[in-house]
Amino acid sequence: MMIAYLDQQLRLAPGTDVDPCGAGGEIHPDLAAASEDFGGVVRALPAAVHRPRSADDVAEVIRQALRYDHLTVAARGNGHSVAGQALAPGGIVLDMRTMSRMELVRGDGGQICADVGAGVLWGELLEWGVAKHGLSPASWTDYLGLTVGGTLSNAGISGQAFQKGPQISNVDELEVVTGDGERVVCSPKSRSDLFFGVLGGLGQFGVITRARIPLIPAPPMVRWIRVVYASFEGYKADVEWLVGRPEREGFDYIEGFAFVNRGGDPASGWESVPIGPSSVFDASLVPHGSGPLLYCLEVALYHQLHDGVDKRVDEMLRPLKYIRGLEFTAEVSYVEFLSRVNLAESAARANGSWHAPHPWLNILISASDVSHFDRHVFQSVLKDGIGGPMLVYPLLRAKWDPRTSVALPDSDVFFLVALLRFNQPYPIGPPVESLISQNREILKRCKSNGYDFKLYFPNYKTEPEWVRHFGQDWARFVDRKAMYDPRAILSPGQNIFSRARPPSSGS
Ligand SMILES: Cc1cc2nc3c(=O)[nH]c(=O)nc-3n(C[C@H](O)[C@H](O)[C@H](O)COP(=O)(O)OP(=O)(O)OC[C@H]3O[C@@H](n4cnc5c(N)ncnc54)[C@H](O)[C@@H]3O)c2cc1C
Repeated sequence: MMIAYLDQQLRLAPGTDVDPCGAGGEIHPDLAAASEDFGGVVRALPAAVHRPRSADDVAEVIRQALRYDHLTVAARGNGHSVAGQALAPGGIVLDMRTMSRMELVRGDGGQICADVGAGVLWGELLEWGVAKHGLSPASWTDYLGLTVGGTLSNAGISGQAFQKGPQISNVDELEVVTGDGERVVCSPKSRSDLFFGVLGGLGQFGVITRARIPLIPAPPMVRWIRVVYASFEGYKADVEWLVGRPEREGFDYIEGFAFVNRGGDPASGWESVPIGPSSVFDASLVPHGSGPLLYCLEVALYHQLHDGVDKRVDEMLRPLKYIRGLEFTAEVSYVEFLSRVNLAESAARANGSWHAPHPWLNILISASDVSHFDRHVFQSVLKDGIGGPMLVYPLLRAKWDPRTSVALPDSDVFFLVALLRFNQPYPIGPPVESLISQNREILKRCKSNGYDFKLYFPNYKTEPEWVRHFGQDWARFVDRKAMYDPRAILSPGQNIFSRARPPSSGS
């Protein structure tokens, strides 16, 4: 049945070329949709799109694709990659959104977990967990229109990660289909090498079909606060102190961002800081002589109603050295807080920047290099902003399991720098080439200044670049590929291996 299906979809006998066009030369809408991603910079037409209903279904597609010398298979979550990572040029795209089951289960240790299909969006898990059970995962992404399988293939970072670890540190079990078409249930105790390999594994070792995610009681309310700093050093000292506090004495969420020290720029100027429509940024409070950028610390405290939250927040804010008067506070429900990026999405959809190209750059950079980065990149290359958020906040290496595949800087504390460009389409906005060359310039400075950094969502093109990216873990990455996807069929859009360049020749 599946063979007939694939042959019909691909309209080819083994060894013949793939022609994705219908009789009239029209590209099928499913193929067109699967040929692009949120980044809008890279495009590649697949030969077929398949919507799996089960892990066995995924296994059969992979086994059938292995019959062809040139075919590849890419799991596609919600297509929110920015450099073609979920594309399969001339291959088969698995639209994982159909893997959407959610079920409450007890884990091995008795803890309550959600067993979720890899195509579930984090926003769907939030709504289901909180509304039906009052329960929630502990670690999130800022934006929730991303799939469980997609973020677990990278890391999944947000303001809870300093304390709870990234999403890849918050999984108890995975069901995976390897590049051999074998369905495996794995965990830290069983087939652990595959389990950890797949986490942050850029889709290279298997297709995640189900994840078991531990749940915690969802707090009813969140005190959400932003305060402003004139200097990066002041911001850095406070935010590093905060992430080092014992869990019971600190905030539940800590992030921060740089923004442009001027008005008239709702995406990245003064107006981007106040929470809620009624609060206003009083620019007269910004010290004279401040630089082109200011810094916003964003924190949140989860709480029950009437549990002395005011006193706790006062105590936690008092030692911080932000500009007094430039503080913004909101009291919101937990679901509202976690869904906060929805408002930005609506605004971006309305002004056209959601559908414009997004040449984003995400860097993990050592805490010892981030001040230099501030002076030589933020305050120079990026002093006029990027038309969107410029996140910069610390993470603790201790919360990341070194057995996962993700590449990190060496230092114990490192910062996420996320340049989330939301520009209007050219010619209203800048040409995308100029943004890409700005990214190149930033990376050039990172290298020439010798920073200890790694790309988050790496998108290298050549093997030496990948070798450098993974550093001493490159051999392990190649070994895992040789073990779990020896014919290099999976996630070709990452450009790490290819069917013509399988793992053994890369080691
Ligand atoms: C608006 C926006 C906000 C974002 N915010 C955050 C954030 O706060 N924190 C953060 O960490 N990231 C964030 N991201 C990045 C996001 O984590 C990545 O885009 C990630 O790839 C998830 O997106 P996706 O589910 O659409 O996966 P896709 O882009 O579809 O896939 C990403 C990669 O994973 C592979 N893959 C997908 N599903 C599976 C699977 N089931 N099994 C194996 N491999 C699979 C694909 O082949 C591809 O290589 C954001 C992205 C956008 C566009």
